[in-house]
Amino acid sequence: MIAHVDLRAVCDICATEIRDNKGAVWIDVQEVQAIEREHVAWESRHVDDDGTVSFEIFSPDSPPGNALWRVNHDSCFEIPELAYHIPVERLRSWPAYLHWTAHLMEKTWLPYTNWTALVMSTLEGSGQRSGLVPLEKPSGDW
Ligand SMILES: [Zn+2]
Repeated sequence: MIAHVDLRAVCDICATEIRDNKGAVWIDVQEVQAIEREHVAWESRHVDDDGTVSFEIFSPDSPPGNALWRVNHDSCFEIPELAYHIPVERLRSWPAYLHWTAHLMEKTWLPYTNWTALVMSTLEGSGQRSGLVPLEKPSGDW
């Protein structure tokens, strides 16, 4: 059986396609942990008496950014030993993307990463320089 293919992986560094077994979608676990600590510290500075977190949009103490998922050829970037790593050949279809998304949603650290932005850029399709790029732009009424 030939696996169903909906998605191409395009390297963030060289902007060319990543063939099976030649790269991964990955995130640096130490970066995630550092950013998670920054978020926890930031939230503790901005929690109100009722337990909600609020802040002034133009405050110099803006919320920390998120850790970045990367899409790279193994030959373009040396992936750190402590990385969460999904080989590109395991992320070739929409069901596979949904599977990994559900799996990652069980991780407490997912909100401190840009996975949502990665998914949205794939769904929006055209004009992406790199990342996970649909072969056919999805047209859905959702
Ligand atoms: Zn590359």
